[in-house]
Amino acid sequence: MSHLSSLSNDNIVLSSAAESQEKVEAPQTHMVTSPITGEVRPAAKVPTAEEIVDQLQRHMPDADLDMVRRAYDYASAAHAGQLRLSGDPYIMHPATVAYTLAEMGFDEHSVAAGLLHDTVEDTDSSIDELDELFGEQVADIVDGVTKINMMTFDTKEEAQAENIRKMILSMAHDMRVPVVKLADRLHNMNTLDFQKLHKQQRIAKETMDIYAPLANRLGLHLFKQKLEDLSFRYLRPDAYAEITNWLKDNQIVERKLISKVIDKIEGIMIENRINGRVFGRIKQTYSIYRKMTAQQTPLDEMHDIIAFRIIVQELRDCYAMLGLVHVLWRPVPGRFKDYISMPKSNGYQSLHTTVMGPEGERIEIQIRTEEMNNMAEHGVAAHWMYKERNHAIAMQDMPQFQWLRDLMERQRDETDSKEFMGSLRMDLFSDEIYVFTPKGSVKQLPKGATSLDFAFLIHSDVGFHCVGAKINGKLEPFATQLKNGDMVEIITDKNRHPHRDWLKIVKTAKARSRIQHYLRTEERVAAIALGKELLEKEGRKMDFNAGKAAKDGRMQLAVTEFSCNTLDDLYANVGTGKLTPKKVLTKLISILNPKREVPEEPIAPIKPNEPSKKAADGITIKGIEDTLIHFAKCCKPVPGDQVVGFISRGRGVIVHTADCPHVQTLESERLISVNWNNEESKPFPAQICIMGRNAKGLLAGISMALVQQDVNIDSLEVSSTVDGRSQMNFTVEVRDAAHLYKTIDKLRAVENVTEVRRGTSIADD
Ligand code: MN
Repeated sequence: MSHLSSLSNDNIVLSSAAESQEKVEAPQTHMVTSPITGEVRPAAKVPTAEEIVDQLQRHMPDADLDMVRRAYDYASAAHAGQLRLSGDPYIMHPATVAYTLAEMGFDEHSVAAGLLHDTVEDTDSSIDELDELFGEQVADIVDGVTKINMMTFDTKEEAQAENIRKMILSMAHDMRVPVVKLADRLHNMNTLDFQKLHKQQRIAKETMDIYAPLANRLGLHLFKQKLEDLSFRYLRPDAYAEITNWLKDNQIVERKLISKVIDKIEGIMIENRINGRVFGRIKQTYSIYRKMTAQQTPLDEMHDIIAFRIIVQELRDCYAMLGLVHVLWRPVPGRFKDYISMPKSNGYQSLHTTVMGPEGERIEIQIRTEEMNNMAEHGVAAHWMYKERNHAIAMQDMPQFQWLRDLMERQRDETDSKEFMGSLRMDLFSDEIYVFTPKGSVKQLPKGATSLDFAFLIHSDVGFHCVGAKINGKLEPFATQLKNGDMVEIITDKNRHPHRDWLKIVKTAKARSRIQHYLRTEERVAAIALGKELLEKEGRKMDFNAGKAAKDGRMQLAVTEFSCNTLDDLYANVGTGKLTPKKVLTKLISILNPKREVPEEPIAPIKPNEPSKKAADGITIKGIEDTLIHFAKCCKPVPGDQVVGFISRGRGVIVHTADCPHVQTLESERLISVNWNNEESKPFPAQICIMGRNAKGLLAGISMALVQQDVNIDSLEVSSTVDGRSQMNFTVEVRDAAHLYKTIDKLRAVENVTEVRRGTSIADD
């Protein structure tokens, strides 16, 4: 362990003899002045090129050390004269970042990129130049880190979603990019004191919200802990001080307990001839804080603040040690977790248990092998220690990053960044539960996942036909949330198919994307069928056999004309209202037979200078032309009404009045604003409901009023109410809303009429 280390766990207070702790004090000679505070203090130690190279060599003897030395010199020259906010020479920052990366076990390209990571952003260097001097790998990593630096994770959710998405994509390409970024962030957090207060808060929050979970996801446990503790210190300085002071005051007691426990454990290891090491430590400050808040316990009553780690050689020794520890001290029920047979999704493996220690203290013990320990602390870096290196390792190639592969897969599907963010959050930040199939194999799901998620995890087909589930043998609806350890058996029915509501039930991104894909396919099939039908219908009006034209290939001309890829695309465009059948056929007929006159539509003759269909409907939609328009039957809008359009599935745009109660139930993202086209003069249907006392001449009076207002009656329904009144439902034709409301006004004045409303019933508001 070196004095330079930004990662050494200073909470480890004792360890078994095997571990020696060398201490080197660096002579600190010159003083620096902070350009912000003016504070004068000794300069921080800048890691030298040789110190970095030494760390790298330790675990990677054949690394290209010379390239790292050149990168060091290049960065020193590029940043020459620049200062950090602390007053230190700028090179201290990239050198420390590189040192951390080397110490963590990353390869020479990561280390060189650590040295160079700020050159493109802050100096005259370019990616091309780095490429030439240090090769493509280094240049690509620096490029990736520079791009992440350009992103600001502000509070606007969508912007943030977009940025995180980019970051995830960059790390899918080469995971050394986020790793270098994390090392960069770690050093910046270590020197956060020199930033202005509001910046400290923003950076600390961003670190807590984004970078610490990211480190966790990458299995970089040491990064995660350090980032959390540092952020916590700035976000909750009071709580941080309380805990650190308490720990200082109680150190002696805790140390005594730790050495007592270590002695006992070492004793049983020797007795049973198990090779290994034991560590005892006081837990990370932030994790103590989280426990305090979760258990609502004051510090003095907190019991499980110390933890032990037993690292053994062989896998079977893990379970042997567990048994021995449980004989020595009574285990606390419900606290044993076997992450060896069920690794966490970031690859973490270990046995966890909590026991009642020698003084009745609850103590946590983790047991794992050296290799598991390496993976736990170094995460993705462990990959280089054990496996091949020297090329960009895309994370999706590694089995423990299945979640990332899933993410990449549906990246293609989810174009909505908000939606993507939702599922990403779920994947990145949520805890996991483990459930069992009837055959006993284990499946991992995010907390809050339902049987339906489980069904999709088994197979898409199982998900598509899922009707329910037996959870621990009991029949439950598929929306039931699963709990850790549940045994789940899915019940399917071939006649069952996904429904839009299912999207509200599922929690996993996988199930969500499968359902969406299904719905989209289903909609397309419907749109194709509808488009085909509309073209044939329109064709009959125009004396043109569209079905035949499709069969003999003439319709292909329209496919090309409207830039569609296939005939189905053309149908789908018509079915969804992007193209009107009339437009398609008029064009096709004019191509096939340039001399033929296309008959005009027989009803509602169109004015010569208004050729488009939308004008005939009296509605214009901003930015959209030639849309199939329908008026909602529920509210029957008339010109002058405030209206809103709903993009239907396969029926074009349906226009409702803005206050129609149905609008509330529609998916808001499919609503669009529409306007009336003022030149319209054709009559519109409207509904009027009238309540009146049963009396002679009531209907005659009403009819008279309607005639006087120049309103045609389309239909009328009369019913009697129990209290001897009549309800009359008229469907009438009006010019516009003003016409309608003036008519309603006149109707209210008719003798024996008690109430008049627009709509189909008096109660219908
Ligand atoms: Mn930096």
